[in-house]
Amino acid sequence: MLTGLSAVSSPDRPRFAYNLTSVEGFRAIVEWGEAHRMPMIMQCSERYLRDLGDTYFENVVVPRLARSEVAFVLHLDHATSLQAVQAGIQLGFSSVMFDGSGLPLKLNIQASADALGLCRQARIASFEAEIGHVGGAEDGDDEETRYLTRVEEAQQFMAEVPVDFLAVSVGNAHGQYRMPPKLHWDLLEALHHVISVPLVLHGGTGISPADFRRATKLGVQKINLGTELKVAWMRGLALAMESGEREPDRIRSAAKRSIAETLDRTERILIDV
Ligand SMILES: [Zn+2]
Repeated sequence: MLTGLSAVSSPDRPRFAYNLTSVEGFRAIVEWGEAHRMPMIMQCSERYLRDLGDTYFENVVVPRLARSEVAFVLHLDHATSLQAVQAGIQLGFSSVMFDGSGLPLKLNIQASADALGLCRQARIASFEAEIGHVGGAEDGDDEETRYLTRVEEAQQFMAEVPVDFLAVSVGNAHGQYRMPPKLHWDLLEALHHVISVPLVLHGGTGISPADFRRATKLGVQKINLGTELKVAWMRGLALAMESGEREPDRIRSAAKRSIAETLDRTERILIDV
């Protein structure tokens, strides 16, 4: 079945959200969740929504998740326009992130409030927005700019846009970190102190398990993993081809297995935090 972020996560049970960037990744996550009877959060950015195609979501992803006995969240990641939000709603996404973090605060508030209104009207199960700006190589775009979330801006944002989940920028970044990231713990703690809804950490790939656990003690309830699954997918393909495999179905199976192995590892990290 399809559901929202609060149905599959809690302060005691923080969760990873996995980015969909391939058919193999989708199958790996669904099959892993069903084999372990474990609800899963998967999310897709506008870029990979375009790549995989509307009809793939409409005819494959949404019906497959909807008829499963396991709960899945299908979350739209980083929608940057109301049209994108509307498109996600129409395709059957159960949860939406609107990202106005590239805008000045006032415009971010305005645009996020509009997106939230659309989602509430459409009975979307959960809504996430971002304050501060998590930069980095989101979907491979080399954008270096990022700025840390300011506590008073986050408070003002929440007063005007009562979102369900709030993404914050505390030293995290998208893509592959060049150096091990140093998260700003004082800032995260200050945000946790004044923000009553669960926090979201984007750019989880490269952050250590110890830091994940520490973050979840400070209000983080959703951690996004994108790059890690892309790397697993590529590693699976590369190993299969290097071993001389030439049948595409077996090469794709190797990519799927490699992603499943990553899930075996990551899904253990946040249990009993
Ligand atoms: Zn992100």
